[in-house]
Amino acid sequence: MTHADPFAIRELLGPHAAPGRRALTGEHGIVLPAFTDHHVHLHLIEEQGLAAHGVAAALDLGGDPVALARRPREGFPRVSYAGAFLTAPGGYPVDRSWAPDGITREISDPSTHPGVPGGVATVVDEQASCGASVIKVVLNSAAGPVLDLATLRAVVSCARERSLPVVAHVEGDGMTRLALDAGVDAFAHTPFSEWLDGASIARAVALRQHWISTLAIHDGVDRERAAINLATFAQAGGRVLYGTDLGNGERPVGIQVAELAALDAAGIRGAALIATLTDPWPVVEQTHAVATFVPGTAPTTLDEIPAWLGAATVVPDEEVVRDEH
Ligand SMILES: [Zn+2]
Repeated sequence: MTHADPFAIRELLGPHAAPGRRALTGEHGIVLPAFTDHHVHLHLIEEQGLAAHGVAAALDLGGDPVALARRPREGFPRVSYAGAFLTAPGGYPVDRSWAPDGITREISDPSTHPGVPGGVATVVDEQASCGASVIKVVLNSAAGPVLDLATLRAVVSCARERSLPVVAHVEGDGMTRLALDAGVDAFAHTPFSEWLDGASIARAVALRQHWISTLAIHDGVDRERAAINLATFAQAGGRVLYGTDLGNGERPVGIQVAELAALDAAGIRGAALIATLTDPWPVVEQTHAVATFVPGTAPTTLDEIPAWLGAATVVPDEEVVRDEH
């Protein structure tokens, strides 16, 4: 294709993709809605690099709620956050070198009454009052004690009262089931430590769960399990979100082609792949102040899309001109 055909572009990249150019430089490329990385840790990365490399919005899934509350609201990336990691007393990630005290809260009481030290409502209220958009719970039985079902249900019900979805980190045998039994809304990582049967995946879909991908942080059998669990979930109609866990390990900041390639290999391709990036969850409406611009020749096959997206950048909406056809 010498000139980008808008119909072919929409067919390949989804209904919001359009050929266009930069207003100032005249550079041609493809315009897409803003992209979100649904799993980052801002205190561990140089966040200024995100927008330069295609990420307009980010969801921080574990950080100091007070520091996050003090962030300026303007600028890019637009940030939403969970605040602290909620866990059992002594549970993961308490005492981890990368997890200073300010970023974990140990729940020692299932109480949903305010003001109880270590109580569910106390801890959930603190995150909410710091401006959290989601509540993050850690269920890692491979690395320490975990919240029991009653306490976890109390967290979900407290969060619901505040219209906040609950995102769980599940790791270790039975942790996916525990999260499903409590009705959590999303997984911070595609479940990777256990193979999920069809019934569990059907329950996740029925709960309308969102699964944040993070496939590329794993290798070996964890990688294989995550990829197959995610492929099955997506095929069953489950909602998949692009997420990288940036801050975990050393990677250049920005869009991660390795994550996109892993999603593509799991069957989440083309327009479906783009949709994992453009879904603004947990924010209801995506920012219209910026767009994604991918310079150069548009892809013509599904196989080219992950690597092509590696050139994405964030541009102010008024600086792109969509071609008229
Ligand atoms: Zn993480």
